Amino acid sequence: MTKEQLMQRAILLSENSVRHGGGPFGAVIAKDGVIVAEASNSVTIDQDPTAHAEVNAIRMATRALHTFDLKGCEIYTSCEPCPMCLGAIYWAHLDRIYYANNRQDAAKIGFDDEFIYEEIDRKIADRHKPMIALMRDEALGAFRMWEESTEKTEY
Ligand SMILES: [Zn+2]
Repeated sequence: MTKEQLMQRAILLSENSVRHGGGPFGAVIAKDGVIVAEASNSVTIDQDPTAHAEVNAIRMATRALHTFDLKGCEIYTSCEPCPMCLGAIYWAHLDRIYYANNRQDAAKIGFDDEFIYEEIDRKIADRHKPMIALMRDEALGAFRMWEESTEKTEY
């Protein structure tokens, strides 16, 4: 499939999602032009605030390909990814992001994630959500175990 056909599919998923009670977002993950996974937003349907189209598609793609690493795949999303999905896309090692609507378009219909982008830029002490450091020394134990482990699967 061409990139336009793959994006058309993501857009169709976003429209179908609205018809079925989900948020107006769709995403397709493809490898060499072939769809590996496709999903729409299911936040309200699944009562899962992380169930954005991109995250849902990543979960489906990794299950379909039996890997946690989606290098070699590309994502087509009907809207510019929010900070959570952008992070997930980087963690999944997807090669490229195609998007249709941009975040200003999303903000106009009530999906404004600009404040999260702004929060990331702020110092921890200046963020709106209190973030309190607690028990670092105790938690470092797991990190030392990881460093010393010879059995770990690095990602
Ligand atoms: Zn998102």
